[in-house]
This record gives sequence, C-alpha cells and structure tokens, in this order.
Amino acid sequence: MSDPIIVYGAGPAGSSLVLALLGAGIPASRLAWLVESGPDQARRTAPEARYIALHAGSRSLLEQLGVWPVLAPLTFPMETIRITDSALEEAIRPDLLGFSPASPDAPLAHLVPLDRLAATLAEACAAAGCTPQPVALRGLDQKAGQVRLTLRHGDGRESQQDGALVVAADGARSRLRMLAGIPVHGWPYDQIAIVATIRHSLDHEGEGLQHFLPAGPFAMLPLDAGRSSIVWSERAADAERILRGGERAILEGIRQRAAGRRGEITALEAFTSHPLQLRLARRFHAGRVVLAADAAHVVHPLAGQGLNLGLADVAVLAEQIVDRMRLGLDPGAPDMLEAYQSARRPPAVAMAMTTESLNRLFSRESGLLRLVRDVGVGLVERWPGLKDRLVENAAGTAQGAPRLMRGEAL
Ligand SMILES: Cc1cc2nc3c(=O)[nH]c(=O)nc-3n(C[C@H](O)[C@H](O)[C@H](O)COP(=O)(O)OP(=O)(O)OC[C@H]3O[C@@H](n4cnc5c(N)ncnc54)[C@H](O)[C@@H]3O)c2cc1C
Repeated sequence: MSDPIIVYGAGPAGSSLVLALLGAGIPASRLAWLVESGPDQARRTAPEARYIALHAGSRSLLEQLGVWPVLAPLTFPMETIRITDSALEEAIRPDLLGFSPASPDAPLAHLVPLDRLAATLAEACAAAGCTPQPVALRGLDQKAGQVRLTLRHGDGRESQQDGALVVAADGARSRLRMLAGIPVHGWPYDQIAIVATIRHSLDHEGEGLQHFLPAGPFAMLPLDAGRSSIVWSERAADAERILRGGERAILEGIRQRAAGRRGEITALEAFTSHPLQLRLARRFHAGRVVLAADAAHVVHPLAGQGLNLGLADVAVLAEQIVDRMRLGLDPGAPDMLEAYQSARRPPAVAMAMTTESLNRLFSRESGLLRLVRDVGVGLVERWPGLKDRLVENAAGTAQGAPRLMRGEAL
C-alpha cells in the first residue's frame, strides 16, 4: 500500500497529528496535508481570545512532539479550582467543591493561548518539511482499499488526491464528515460563551473559579499575576445584547458575576464570542475516512475538555497508524478504524453527557434539583478516593491512555 495518509485540517488537531507522524519517522512524502480554503477558513482566522486548559496528558503529548519548550513561556499553571453556585443576586457563594492536583509538582492544567498553540504546531510542521496545501473539497469517492478526494485549487484547477486513509480534522462543521455521509447527534445550547481576558487588582494565586449561575457557568481562569481568562456562558439573547453594548457592557457583566472575588476589575484586554453546541458523530469512521477532535465531537466548555479529548484522538490515531506502517500493514484497514472508534467514541459520549447534565442541572433554579446536585457533590467530597480518581481521569494520564499522553515516544 503506497497511497499516502491524507490529513484534512490545520487547527491544533490536524497539525499535531501531522507532527506526530513526522516525528515517528513517517516521511513527508507519505503524507498529504490539506486545509480548507475559502470563506470558512477566513472566518476561522478571526482574532482569538481563547486560553485552553490543557491537562497533564495533553502536555505530555506536546512534550513528545517537541513543541512544549516553545509554548511553556506562554502558558500559565492552574493549581486549584473552586466550584460555587448561586443566583446572580445572592451575595454569599458557599464553596461546593474544590479540586487540587494529585501530585504537588503537576498543576491541574496549563492555560495555553489557542492561537499560539495552533501557530506553534504549524511552525514545527513547516520546520519538519510539511505545510498544508489550501484546497476546496469538491468530492469524495471510496473504493476498495483506497479513498479519492477531488480538490479545487486557488487558480480554479481541479485535481485528485488518492489516500490509504483520510483523517478529517476540519473542525465542528467538518465538510469531510458531511461528504462521508456520517450523521451527527446534537443540538445548539441556547447559550453563547463570552471569552475575555481581564486585568484585576487582587492576585489569583493560581486558583481557578467556576461559578454556576442559572444562565450558565462563569469561569475565571488564572493567567499571569493580576490577569485572568473569562469563559462566561450566558443565555443567547442576553449575551447578544451584552455584546452589542461593547466593552462597557461586557466589563459591567463580568464585574457583577465576579462579585469582587479578584478585587477591582481594571481592564478588558480582548474578547470573542462562541455560540455553544453539542455535536457527536454517530460513527467515528466511514470507509477510509476517520474523524478526529471537533470533527467528531463538540462538547460544552464548562469542563475544559474539548481539545483534551481531541488530542487524545490524535494520540490514539498516531499510535495505530505508526504501528501499522512500521509493520508494512494497511494504515486504513477496517479493523484499525474499528479499534480507534472503540477507544475514542465512549469517552467522547461520556464527556458529552457529563457536560450536558452538569449544564442542565446547574442551569435550573428548582430547589429539588439543587438538593440532588448538592447530595451528588457531597458524595464526591466524602467518598474515599473518588475525588482523587476524578482528578487522575481528568488529567488524561490514567491507565490505558495512549503512549504520547503517558509521555512515551511512538
Ligand atoms: C469557549 C470555549 C472554550 C474552550 N475551552 C477549552 C478548554 O479549556 N480546554 C479544552 O480542551 N478545550 C476547550 N475548548 C474546545 C477547543 O477550543 C476545541 O476543541 C479545539 O479548538 C478544536 O480543535 P480542532 O483542530 O478540532 O478544530 P478547529 O480549531 O476548529 O480547526 C479546524 C479548522 O479550522 C481552521 N483553523 C483553526 N485554527 C487555525 C489557525 N490557527 N490557523 C489556520 N487555520 C486554523 C483550519 O482550517 C482547521 O482545518 C473550548 C471551546 C470553546 C468554544
């Protein structure tokens, strides 16, 4: 089998997969890296204010890919997180739950600027001799043992690209997933996330705060001293009104929700907004097309796990492709794609359901639901070892994690 592996998508998932394959000795000539051109791409390169909380497993993967030393000076550790809930007007916010790292020298997560993460991965791929080719995807044909993409280039020319396997890493609105005929479950949340970077007068000391309000969770995640990243999920109509009011309205809303927890909020440095949705592909492969990261699953950001799940997809796929190619076996064989789906769909479903339930449970003001969640939270606090196991699972390094996430080379 000499057809290349095609990777379609140049966000953090697509670039990290390309880098993992190159790093494991797959020559650039065995890869075809494509990125969508046209309006979709222009929309996605709009300014980005997101800082992504990456867990220990994702950090290990980035270390193995050799990009962590470049990223580390741009990242900020989150040592602990405190969870609270109450209505907006309630002055007292008792702590519901707190999480600390399992080991003192490994923080719960690192906050990484998403635009720098994508750019650093892309630069490392370029340095290793691989850059994505911008194309518009016109068609997909699957034959026994091969997949063929029809591509339109910037000059209007059409060409065909054959592959042994095509990885769709083209994000939530994946065109490749659509062409492969893979249906998606899901629904829009009636929420928009306002993401902002703020300055404040009190130090956060590496502590994150997540406050559950009836309209959605409001998180303050620690950056450098006196700076935090806000992820504020708000009812869509209210968020749109606030965004129309510009910086003043956003600052006012943040001040109200932060309720003085970080002292005075002195500046808004950047903001973006993101309509929230749940999307889960019914299958993670069809023929020789396999889905990774947001092309396969989009979850509510309240647990900060979307890209962590996506990087775990990349780690498993890279491991399976490299192991196959080293043995001279077909890297797009059905049994491999089934094994990938069995490894990656259950955790994505579990995360989709967990975030969906938490968002619903906390977005209600019913006294009964409040009682149910308080009992649940109490169990997490008191059940021996349960909280440690949750922290270990959330770190992505638990037993059975792929090699790159356990800090091992491919
Ligand atoms: C408000 C919010 C907060 C979040 N917080 C977290 C968190 O804390 N932790 C976490 O793990 N996940 C978080 N996520 C999820 C995370 O942002 C996505 O899972 C991740 O960005 C998806 O990456 P991807 O490569 O699959 O798709 P995308 O990034 O959508 O990439 C797909 C396509 O977009 C284009 N593209 C994207 N970036 C670039 C770029 N820089 N340059 C050129 N083209 C580009 C490319 O064409 C690419 O093919 C959050 C999401 C939201 C909405």
